[in-house]
Amino acid sequence: MRFYSTRDASRKLYPLAEAAFLGLAPDGGLFVPERIPQVDMAAVRRLAGVSYADMAGYLAGVIFDDVPESVISDVVSRAYNFDIGLHFFDSKKGALELFHGPTFAFKDFGARFMGQMTGRLNTTDSLTILTATSGDTGSAVAAGFYNVPGVDVVVLYPDGKVSPLQEAQMTTLGGNIHPLRVRGNFDDCQRLVKAMFNDPDLRSRKRITSANSINLLRWIPQSFYYFYAHCLWSAVTGGEAAEIVVPSGNYGNITAGMLAARMGMPVKRFVAASNANDVVPEFLVTGDYKPRASVRTVANAMDVGAPSNFERMMWLYGDVDNLRRQVAGFSATDAEILDAIREIEDKYGYTSDPHSAVGYLAAKHYDIEGYWLSTASPAKFGEVIEKAVGHWPDIPAALQQRLDCKRVYTMMDASESDLKDYLLGL
Ligand SMILES: *Cc1c(COP(=O)(O)O)cnc(C)c1O
Repeated sequence: MRFYSTRDASRKLYPLAEAAFLGLAPDGGLFVPERIPQVDMAAVRRLAGVSYADMAGYLAGVIFDDVPESVISDVVSRAYNFDIGLHFFDSKKGALELFHGPTFAFKDFGARFMGQMTGRLNTTDSLTILTATSGDTGSAVAAGFYNVPGVDVVVLYPDGKVSPLQEAQMTTLGGNIHPLRVRGNFDDCQRLVKAMFNDPDLRSRKRITSANSINLLRWIPQSFYYFYAHCLWSAVTGGEAAEIVVPSGNYGNITAGMLAARMGMPVKRFVAASNANDVVPEFLVTGDYKPRASVRTVANAMDVGAPSNFERMMWLYGDVDNLRRQVAGFSATDAEILDAIREIEDKYGYTSDPHSAVGYLAAKHYDIEGYWLSTASPAKFGEVIEKAVGHWPDIPAALQQRLDCKRVYTMMDASESDLKDYLLGL
């Protein structure tokens, strides 16, 4: 399987390793597969009954068909060693819990696959992943690449502007993970990273790549859990095709589900659920796509005003009329999200994080038969939970352990030459 850019009418094809190391296509588009393979749902059902990793291995083999089977099975068994479950709220709907991985959010599914796969595709003995983070992406990438041979990870984060928990997740691993605490803000971190990628001298002396969320190695494996969820949901309800609500920000998660549907995963429809950053739900109504600056909300991992994966969505559906046939929109205000967290606790005795609460609201609005994706553990959003219900959520032992570990990082000025020296000295 090769890949081409959503912006390239001539469809120049790139082999997997090249597309993966580039991340973004040279013309600024996103990589998509040259064709959409069809899967055997009977095989999916059988393997899902064995383990998530076994099912993911089959699906990865169908898409990445030029990667040896032994490599794929090694990648998925290392990446997927944690639980995934469907928590039913009533007889027909529930929450697909995707937050039982090491960083307690669904981004582990993409980041861990990418980490393991990058390690296997990398043919040199030193590759450096360079990434700037405002918190969550850095922790998922750090955990995803932890101990991957031949790969170093340098994560830049702004001094004093990430939560203690996020900092702990990036700075307590050690080994090949190198956290840089930058005296500056997130924009400074991004500017520094960009400057390194634009420095021909550095590029000629050091192999660097990014682990951006639009990377196809993070995007594609997110389609696998939709197949698994289908098996869990239909086994319990007897239903043939679910309605699937996806709390969305950059739209990587939901477009991965749409890819799964095109590969043969049965679905009745998708609901694109957003917070106040509602450009896509608005587009579904008006047919006008109007990206804009993001606004801050209590579901801040979804605060995206110009979703990158919009291009993949249009690649999959062609036009808004086609999109409307399979996708409905929904958006919630902060007040509605806080109310929902309270309602879920009162009615079901269940603590939901704010992003998943948007999913709950959309599921209720459309009275779905299906499930919403629960994208993070409430433990990651203690402040918001406390604001909603008046008490802090339970903190899982593994997370508490991280918080108690000693944090190790390098303090750095927001200086391009300092960062360059640091990278060359690694
Ligand atoms: C990243 C993230 C989202 C949004 O996912 P997209 O793929 O960007 O749409 C939702 N919830 C949580 C907790 C996230 O970390």
